[in-house]
Amino acid sequence: MIISGKDLALEVKNDVAERVKQCVAEYGRPPHLVVILVGENPASVSYVAGKGRDAEEVGFKNTTIRKPESISEEELLGLIAELNADESVDGLLVQLPLPKHISEAKVIEAIAKEKDVDGFHPLNVASLWQKLPCLLPCTPKGIIKLLDKAGVQIEGKKAVVIGRSNIVGLPVSKLLLDRNATVTIAHSRTKNLAQVTSEADILVVAIGKPLFVTADMVGEGAAVIDVGVNRHPETGKLCGDVDFEACKEKASVITPVPGGVGPMTRACLMENTLECYLNKMMNK
Ligand code: NAP
Repeated sequence: MIISGKDLALEVKNDVAERVKQCVAEYGRPPHLVVILVGENPASVSYVAGKGRDAEEVGFKNTTIRKPESISEEELLGLIAELNADESVDGLLVQLPLPKHISEAKVIEAIAKEKDVDGFHPLNVASLWQKLPCLLPCTPKGIIKLLDKAGVQIEGKKAVVIGRSNIVGLPVSKLLLDRNATVTIAHSRTKNLAQVTSEADILVVAIGKPLFVTADMVGEGAAVIDVGVNRHPETGKLCGDVDFEACKEKASVITPVPGGVGPMTRACLMENTLECYLNKMMNK
């Protein structure tokens, strides 16, 4: 079974759009998402355009602030401070990666925790690991929704996550652990990777290497979630970290690239923005 992230993202966004209508009736304005885009990186430009389209679809006010690659760290931090203080802004994110002269850690830390729709702020991350209320990072949250939608049982299952980044690998491992999976985190130094992955009931792949996971690495009947976004070395087309055509024969469920985790990440961003807005409105 191929799990369509597009279809599920549409369901999530329809639900957000309905709730936005009620919010406007109750609080007099829709949620406002601000995205800062530094430079001209084509992938970032395209991701930000997608976020803007989704925000408009669900009825948010949506602002993209574009700054040149040459913006100084100080100026960017100043802009973030202004937006933090702006009552009309509910959600704020800075598209990553940033130019080398700007510290991503400082930028992430500068965004007010209450507006941190990406869920990257150290206080949000700490809350996640301490099982305290927090904004869940969008990609891991989307992955769990995909598994649930496909009817994959998580509790008691063996989950293997390849990748240990702060953005995907580590938080998705924590979410799987919280759902009572037994989780193994694999990485570039893992020995006998194929042996580790082929024992997984749930295999989440977040490496960033085109078609890295081959059929021999997938156990019969496994649920395979492909987070990777790469260019195919021969065709130049978008592809995942998993050799989809070969692995779909062994997997019970599998996500495609494009149209799998990507749309769910953006749909969860919409949910998080609504959550930030509601937290603010209900605490007024
Ligand atoms: P990252 O920070 O570069 O992390 C990559 C991870 O893969 C690292 O933990 C690395 O291990 C591991 N790795 C690299 N080569 C390996 C190998 N040969 N064997 C086993 N593990 C290996 O990447 P990321 O930010 O997590 O992103 C991963 C992919 O997901 C990228 O393609 C990215 O574009 C995509 N992504 C997609 C979405 C979406 O919404 N669809 C969102 C975020 C990211 P070490 O730790 O040992 O170096």
